[in-house]
Amino acid sequence: MTIKIIGGGLAGCECAYQLLKRGYSVELYEMRPIKQTPIHKTNKLCELVCSNSLKSNDPITAQGALKKEMELLDSLILNQAKECSVPAGGALAVDRDEFAERVQTRLTSFPDFHLIREEHTEIDDWTVIAAGPLASDNLTKKIAELTGSDELHFYDAVAPIITSESIDMDHAFFAGRYGKGGEDYLNLPLNKEEYESFVTELKNAEKVILHEFEKGEVFEACMPVEVMAGRGDDALRFGPLRPVGLTDPKTGKRPYAVVQLRKEDASGRLYNLVGFQTNLKFSEQKRVFGLIPALKEAEFVRYGVMHRNTFINAPKVINADFSLVGNEKVFFAGQISGVEGYMESAMCGLIVAINLDRKYRNKTFIAMPETTLFGGLMKYVTSPNMNFQPMHVGFPLLPVIEGIRDKQKRKEAYAGRALTDMEQYVETITRL
Ligand SMILES: Cc1cc2nc3c(=O)[nH]c(=O)nc-3n(C[C@H](O)[C@H](O)[C@H](O)COP(=O)(O)OP(=O)(O)OC[C@H]3O[C@@H](n4cnc5c(N)ncnc54)[C@H](O)[C@@H]3O)c2cc1C
Repeated sequence: MTIKIIGGGLAGCECAYQLLKRGYSVELYEMRPIKQTPIHKTNKLCELVCSNSLKSNDPITAQGALKKEMELLDSLILNQAKECSVPAGGALAVDRDEFAERVQTRLTSFPDFHLIREEHTEIDDWTVIAAGPLASDNLTKKIAELTGSDELHFYDAVAPIITSESIDMDHAFFAGRYGKGGEDYLNLPLNKEEYESFVTELKNAEKVILHEFEKGEVFEACMPVEVMAGRGDDALRFGPLRPVGLTDPKTGKRPYAVVQLRKEDASGRLYNLVGFQTNLKFSEQKRVFGLIPALKEAEFVRYGVMHRNTFINAPKVINADFSLVGNEKVFFAGQISGVEGYMESAMCGLIVAINLDRKYRNKTFIAMPETTLFGGLMKYVTSPNMNFQPMHVGFPLLPVIEGIRDKQKRKEAYAGRALTDMEQYVETITRL
């Protein structure tokens, strides 16, 4: 049986390896160098487009725990990365050229691996779409025909997401504007002095330099909060930070300005900073948004970003196993499926291979436990969400472990449970 994979990036290569190991023949379509993306620079498979860091190796962090899970599943990307790592403190960083070469060499060692250099746009049965955040235009047109054009997005213009437990509730109150919407919004009041110093710092904060192709359209689509701040000292007070219709129960008065937070998940463990789509550097987001009194200790699950990113509206478009709603023999993997990050994309390719293999062999789908780092992300990505944006792994996505107050011990508990449950998952899919 031959499986087609569109895209030779992190997801596509990992998926190919897992399928080859399971006895499939794989046709991997990679359009470079015949057609380049605006950001890739080489013709290599698995090119890392930006940083050479695959993030933390510490098993008590979400990224480190994800690596432990990938280890249990014999990840090609992780194994090859370890073979060509370079010193990077607690992180796993690689020599990017050697990494890409190693991945390609391992794949081409399988006689049933066929690398086809072309821009592929046919989406037949038993195809995995792993074309990444810079999928070619012709392919995205085809995907839009399958999913409906409203379900395919081309830009991330994302406001930061923080954990509810890190918000200082002494400086926050629940209320809907003009009493409407009940307690759907959490409001963070600012007095004049706090607002003015926040706006000054916001205007002067360091920004990420956008690539040429990302300019223009991003700004038209959604204005970054720092750009709006630059339009005048009161611009934010008349925009996303407007206080009208809100009364602070502590003072009985309308605050000078109000930052509104909206629940990001059904359980209310995550909050989105409404209207705070931003292009500030991550460290600057922590510093400047931390000037808002309630956010002094805010824990960011996801920082705001504004960049080109092609992704499907996963909660509506894919099933729990990442197959397409309406044609379960077509799968999405990697960044285009709504996960975010190098390792998440690779793990996504891995799990799609497992799910596809089970489907092809008429075995029942076994969901990865939502207590594991990647199972939690899969659950998040495929659960109903009106404002879906891609997400990376994180402990706040996992079912709560109650009763551990110490932060470090809590992380250890999440990471430990994830590993145990992943071991169980691996045993189950091997046995059944
Ligand atoms: C500018 C930018 C910077 C990023 N930086 C980081 C970072 O530093 N760290 C991090 O963790 N994540 C980063 N990401 C996010 C993400 O982790 C990476 O984009 C990652 O490479 C995604 O893996 P992937 O396999 O889904 O896609 P890719 O690695 O992009 O692979 C997709 C492949 O599909 C090919 N392709 C596209 N269309 C077709 C077609 N029609 N036919 C054949 N081939 C096709 C492309 O040429 C590409 O090789 C970044 C994303 C962007 C856009």
